[in-house]
Amino acid sequence: MDTVKKPPVIWLNVTIFLGTFILATVGVIWYGMVEGYSAAHWVWLVIAFIFCGMSITAGYHRLWSHKTYQAHRSLRLLFAIGGAFALQNSALHWSSDHRVHHKHVDNNDKDPYSAKRGFWYSHIGWMLREYQAERYEDYRNCRDLQKDSIVMWQHKHYVLLALATNFGIPLALGLWYGDVLGFLLIVGALRLVLSHHTTFFINSLAHIWGSQPYTSKNTARDNGILAFFTFGEGYHNFHHIFEHDYRNGIRWWQFDPTKWLIRSCASLGLTSNLKTVSAYRIEKARLIQTMANAKDKIFTLPNADQLQAALEQEFQLLLSKLTEYDQLRSQVIDSAKSSVKEKYEEALLRVRLEQLDLNLKEHKKRWRQIVSNPRLVLS
Ligand SMILES: [Zn+2]
Ligand SMILES: [Zn+2]
Repeated sequence: MDTVKKPPVIWLNVTIFLGTFILATVGVIWYGMVEGYSAAHWVWLVIAFIFCGMSITAGYHRLWSHKTYQAHRSLRLLFAIGGAFALQNSALHWSSDHRVHHKHVDNNDKDPYSAKRGFWYSHIGWMLREYQAERYEDYRNCRDLQKDSIVMWQHKHYVLLALATNFGIPLALGLWYGDVLGFLLIVGALRLVLSHHTTFFINSLAHIWGSQPYTSKNTARDNGILAFFTFGEGYHNFHHIFEHDYRNGIRWWQFDPTKWLIRSCASLGLTSNLKTVSAYRIEKARLIQTMANAKDKIFTLPNADQLQAALEQEFQLLLSKLTEYDQLRSQVIDSAKSSVKEKYEEALLRVRLEQLDLNLKEHKKRWRQIVSNPRLVLS
């Protein structure tokens, strides 16, 4: 029998989550059958969902929690309002929790939404009881954010802003289109429930379901399907290892509209100092992870020791080639900035870089073959 006493229930949160869920399901279906909805209801649902979602991903998460870029005052104000509309606590509180999550990921005693405590707990359970009571108002890990006047303004007036947006926006739309109840249900309740649970999936599903191309040292996963519903946040394995990169999906084909928004705003002068990690560090992380996966495969094979030694040799060789390529590439970049008389030297360096690039491609090809079938390492 479980003798550990659970902390008290937070009835306000239970009421909000349960109440909005009933309205978004039973209420929305009932009203649809009785009155029906127009295209305007669905268009505004999408607009409001994007406004809330992006305020969390681009604002709360990548701007305030991780400082991956800087944003103009007007944009920060928009994110602060959208974040209150998303009803996920103030940016200061959210960021404080999230920084603890990154620092102590998967530590059941310290990570506020540790995935190791199961799907329900990491998804929503952690907000239903007073699990965080002793550190609830401890914002020492967000001293930088306490200097941001917009963050502090939103924190101080959070309840008012949350009520004004969550009731005011659907109400105003309802009055405009002549259907107050319909808009309260669709843009109020349904939008809020969709916005809540898609964000919550990052703490739950994105730590359970997906691949781990960069690291298996924590539970975070990359998942393209989740990325689609979360404005790019589904590439969570990359994010947990390179949290200071403003991108989550780094490939051109990966769906990361938050990254596109931040980048587009940079061309308008609304965002600046966009931080990225180098391609070399990313490739190195991938290489180390494929090595770890290959070691697991070898473990069960009869000549495991011999295979492991040969694999280690191939790994070190590829790593040294990768490092050499990166150093040479930096030299080319430096020499490109130099004077005319050194242009000959630059041209030589470029030729060497091209050769090394071809050589590296061959090594990578062999490495891919080896990690998919480790026996090949002895061939
Ligand atoms: Zn996470
Ligand atoms: Zn994060």
